[in-house]
Amino acid sequence: TQALLDRAQANADLGAYLALDPEVSLAQARAADARLDSGERTPLLGVPIAHKDLFVTKDFPTTAGSKMLENYRSPFDATVVAKLAAAGAVTLGKLNCDEFAMGSGNDNSAYGPALNPWDKTRVPGGSSGGSSAAVAARLAPAATGTDTGGSIRQPASFTGITGIKPTYGRCSRYGMVAYASSLDQAGPMARSARDCALLLSAMAGPDLDRDSTSLDRPAEDYAAALGLPLSPEATATQPLKGLRIGLPQEFFGAGCAPDVLAAVHAALAEYEKLGATLVDISLPRTELAIPAYYIIAPAEASSNLSRFDGVKFGHRAEKYADLTDMYKKSRSEGFGEEVQRRILTGAYVLSHGYYDAYYLKAQQIRRLIAQDFQSAFTQCDLIAGPVAPSVAWKIGAKSDDPVAAYLADIYTLPASLSGLPGMSVPAGFGADGMPVGLQLIGNYFQESQLLGAAHHFQ
Ligand code: GLN
Repeated sequence: TQALLDRAQANADLGAYLALDPEVSLAQARAADARLDSGERTPLLGVPIAHKDLFVTKDFPTTAGSKMLENYRSPFDATVVAKLAAAGAVTLGKLNCDEFAMGSGNDNSAYGPALNPWDKTRVPGGSSGGSSAAVAARLAPAATGTDTGGSIRQPASFTGITGIKPTYGRCSRYGMVAYASSLDQAGPMARSARDCALLLSAMAGPDLDRDSTSLDRPAEDYAAALGLPLSPEATATQPLKGLRIGLPQEFFGAGCAPDVLAAVHAALAEYEKLGATLVDISLPRTELAIPAYYIIAPAEASSNLSRFDGVKFGHRAEKYADLTDMYKKSRSEGFGEEVQRRILTGAYVLSHGYYDAYYLKAQQIRRLIAQDFQSAFTQCDLIAGPVAPSVAWKIGAKSDDPVAAYLADIYTLPASLSGLPGMSVPAGFGADGMPVGLQLIGNYFQESQLLGAAHHFQ
């Protein structure tokens, strides 16, 4: 813990951490030592990890990357944080992220960007950009992230690490600052599928009293499952024999940069060597995922973020004429530009007269996208493709063009809208030696299968 805290401080220029408190972390490490001394042997006992600043923590401040929550401290820990602590993990600190998890490059954080350790002029991805930067730069062996539309998978891809977004509801959302509640899901980001499996086993599980959308299924021992064959045909030399991997034609079109496609194809060739069969499939509504998501997510955000009114908690303007003026000034000062854009979009699509034309249509499209996956899964066991259409871009490259950033979410949004588990596995390198991730998407509850497929490849 001490070594990693030193390393975090020495690499502060990466902007990965928003909060460190060595006294708190070292006290937790000593408590873990005491558990070790008393004979406890569990895989995460004493392992230092860090949390995306979207999870509330009682021992560290929580900002969600927003000025609105500057100096905010929660009276309780998020369920995911509490579960990892119960498993013995030590908290190193809180990690930078896009404000309220809205973004794809960590450049929407009110506390400055996080940098990509592979090339500090580039983004580490977003919104879990502090998590990806910290793990890739070895400032933490693993971190938590959240994924609403790709925020675990895309930063993992941009920094060459492994990340999994479980099935919607696998991990409790209690204490995760809400962005779009029907999409938000927590997951681990680490160096390998094995490490992700160890974290996920501790993070997952029902929490029905606090999050009624959490799944009423016990967490599995994902690490133990890594050793199990994925199909009855598996052999020692071909551990993936019998596994059918679907390649959606829509993920391999002209919209994807050639260097990314080359790295993905090379990874798929390795999968074939491991015994997997590649099958061509189609997810015909892929393109519609962008408009549907950028209606549904802002709609839910506009509702979720109404709690930040300057009264209950968060920033309050100093001078105001009356209550309405206080709301207006507090929210104008506390929220950044992208967050305000999403609140306006969301309020618009939910307003009387527009609801049917936008929100309802988007929900219908969402259902069709989920159905496309179910017909695809009659032809294959899991689906593979790129995570993002390019490698990490230069910081600022998409800052003035939000739509350009939205379009880059094309390959992660379909699984998000469908609630399916997805992960990013390091596939190789693209332009300028930047990492490229391979996305694997599984059917509901198939986290073990995804982690297993990633593990055999790693
Ligand atoms: N880039 C997407 C957005 O800005 C996804 C973010 C996320 O998954 N939190 O909404």
